[in-house]
Amino acid sequence: MSAPHPHSRADGDGAPDWARVRAGFPLLERQVHGKPLVYFDNANTGQKPAAVIEAVDDFYRRHNANVSRAVHALGTEATESYEGARAKLARFLNVRGDELVLCSGTTFALNLVAYSWALPRLEAGDAILVSRMEHHANIVPWQLVAARTGATVRVAEITPDGALDLDALRAAMTPEVKLLAVTHVSNVLGTVNPVREICREARRRGIVTVVDGSQAAPHRRIDVAAIGCDFYAITGHKMCGPTGTGALWARREHLLAMPPFIGGGEMIKEVSFDGTVFNDPPHKFEAGTPNIAGFVGLGAAVDYLDALGMEHVEAREAELLAHLDEELTRIEGLRIFGTAPDKAAVVSFLIEGAHSHDLATLLDLEGVAVRSGQHCAHPLLQYYGVAATCRASLAFYNTHEEIERFVAALRKVRGLLG
Ligand code: PMP
Repeated sequence: MSAPHPHSRADGDGAPDWARVRAGFPLLERQVHGKPLVYFDNANTGQKPAAVIEAVDDFYRRHNANVSRAVHALGTEATESYEGARAKLARFLNVRGDELVLCSGTTFALNLVAYSWALPRLEAGDAILVSRMEHHANIVPWQLVAARTGATVRVAEITPDGALDLDALRAAMTPEVKLLAVTHVSNVLGTVNPVREICREARRRGIVTVVDGSQAAPHRRIDVAAIGCDFYAITGHKMCGPTGTGALWARREHLLAMPPFIGGGEMIKEVSFDGTVFNDPPHKFEAGTPNIAGFVGLGAAVDYLDALGMEHVEAREAELLAHLDEELTRIEGLRIFGTAPDKAAVVSFLIEGAHSHDLATLLDLEGVAVRSGQHCAHPLLQYYGVAATCRASLAFYNTHEEIERFVAALRKVRGLLG
């Protein structure tokens, strides 16, 4: 059990006082184009609480040194903070710290699996199975591996509401498939995939599983051990942490068998011109000076989310999504992409007759930040036959009042474009 959050209400179910939580995010106070900011681009990157900003600031003011190499006091403090962040993140994901490789984010994490696990193993005739709703970070590395090994990339389709077609997915798990890469939560549709069941099915067939947890870890409690995958990737900047931080969890047997993908300092035990003895995992995969201050910040972010309680975060965001959905259904000509029953607070939409970039630009003038474009998911947008969508993605620190302001701005903008 985590300690009560400083923003917890003394009464009720211990849920945080969301107004006080929000007040702890300095950036959310600012104005944009003379209007109070409504930040609905959280799937792109999340805002940072003062606790995280202060942890990074404090590191540079008082503790800055390199990790592992130094025996002096500052070096020890920096190493303890960096390794402390690994331990916190491991607890947060319910995994072992020595199975958690710290890296720059999900993109690096997935490339690490591609180059260190897949590239040496796959050959012509093998297949890598991905879903239609993957982010490019969970498509392109597999295409690069396929091009070099002769393996093929196979696609598991979705249903029109934006859910995975589980029968098609099962049918696609033929003996050629050696690896299955699937997102836990879609960054475009919000769909929450039943990754536990999917990984169970894959495992039964001897298929190694990679789960992209970028959009899941910031919004719900993640129990990687219970999911039963082989690899799980996260990115820190979407979960209140600094940019350039993230992690790959992998089963120890894989980490022991995988060759390093990048060589250099920190990842070795001994180097001579006759050869190099690599460090033990996870350090074997962490060559060079890491983003130490970033991980100090990510450690603070994990403490922050832990204290808030991920169950409370999930419930809060579900409540905000229900409100947003209800408001949006009343807007004529608005089409939502992704209406699967299990959904995170991400809403992709278009308004009849309006271009998505025009919508987002005019919303920006009203102080509302939404993303417009293809959301690094070209194949998914091709499925829906659209060039771009607008995407509103919420976080626990957003408010019901912001939803109302967003909807009012949307009505105004629709009037201007209509
Ligand atoms: N996967 C998904 C589902 C994402 O939403 C993102 C970020 N947009 C990524 C991967 C890539 O994350 P990063 O750029 O932080 O490595």
